[in-house]
Amino acid sequence: MAVPTSPAEPHPVDAPGLIDAHGRAIGYLRISVTDRCDLRCRYCMAERMTFLPRSALLALEEIAIIAERFIARGVTKIRLSGGEPLVRRDVGELVDRLGAHVGHGLDELTMTTNGTRLAEHAPRLHAAGIRRVNVSLDSLDPAAFRHITRHGDLAQVLGGVFAARDAGLRVKINTVALRGLNEHELPDILAWTAREGFDLSLIETMPLGAVEEDRVDRFLPLTEVFRALSDRFTLTRDAHRSGGPARYWSVDGGATRLGLISPLTANFCDGCNRVRLTTEGKLYLCLGHDDQVDLKAALRDGGVAALDAAIDLGLRIKPARHDFRIGVGDGPAVARHMSVTGG
Ligand code: SAM
Ligand code: SF4
Repeated sequence: MAVPTSPAEPHPVDAPGLIDAHGRAIGYLRISVTDRCDLRCRYCMAERMTFLPRSALLALEEIAIIAERFIARGVTKIRLSGGEPLVRRDVGELVDRLGAHVGHGLDELTMTTNGTRLAEHAPRLHAAGIRRVNVSLDSLDPAAFRHITRHGDLAQVLGGVFAARDAGLRVKINTVALRGLNEHELPDILAWTAREGFDLSLIETMPLGAVEEDRVDRFLPLTEVFRALSDRFTLTRDAHRSGGPARYWSVDGGATRLGLISPLTANFCDGCNRVRLTTEGKLYLCLGHDDQVDLKAALRDGGVAALDAAIDLGLRIKPARHDFRIGVGDGPAVARHMSVTGG
């Protein structure tokens, strides 16, 4: 493998920027560092999942090299996700290495985690330069939490959330809105986040990968949730944009920001600024399409020049928009699970 780069190297001056065929500047890379997870959330995974063989995965060194090439070409924000990123052994080394770029090309390194191992990792994440984490939490009721995750322990996750806050990390809670499972709880979850000083993003279920659960039955449009929240809270539109499908509100005039991520009932693809790297080295250009390029093969066969060419191909084929619809056709819109692409 001929791959010359290290975190100490200056950014190459010859690195071309990242503009896709629709004129959108790509500044945000999400990386799924593993497709494995210690939970089995019903809307995300099947109870018995087949995970990739370890031999198919990018080495942490290769993930770092690809990420650094994206930074050299203009990516300013990286999110580590999965699967559960904190179940990958040695993920701390990747965090340390990418964290060294914060303030040197990279504006922000973040992570999305289920929180089960956050208590153990939070101080190191902060020391490496991470300042914000998203923690997925779909219920504050221990029994409902266990049901949704199939075997998760709410107390363990809350321990992780508070450890993250104690370590100096800003926490955003991600909650998938699920009809009949947590819909009645959503106002209480927002009140809790406001009280604890966390932000909250509510997410519509997306038809990604086969699961036992019926996503049509569980689908809860956020338009409906928003009406219920407005009865209890004063929600004021906030101009903040992330380049993704989220819209934001401030809650009761306070610091808490509520985000609504509605890929099904709202489409913000025109401003899309992101691409996603899977743990086996495929670069997906859109969560809702199968178009991808194989960066692992490019890197292993041709080094950085071939990696650049593969990234350029990706920019040319990035779709204009996704086309998610719930309840259309027999199966999920996209066969791969969110845990493969990195949520
Ligand atoms: N394991 C980590 C976690 O749960 O935060 C990171 C990976 S998880 C795939 C990232 C986010 O995707 C989580 O907030 C999860 O709730 C969300 N997610 C997973 N499958 C989804 C689906 N089918 N529709 C909508 N959101 C989904
Ligand atoms: Fe695991 Fe996250 Fe998927 Fe839940 S949402 S099964 S924690 S990857």
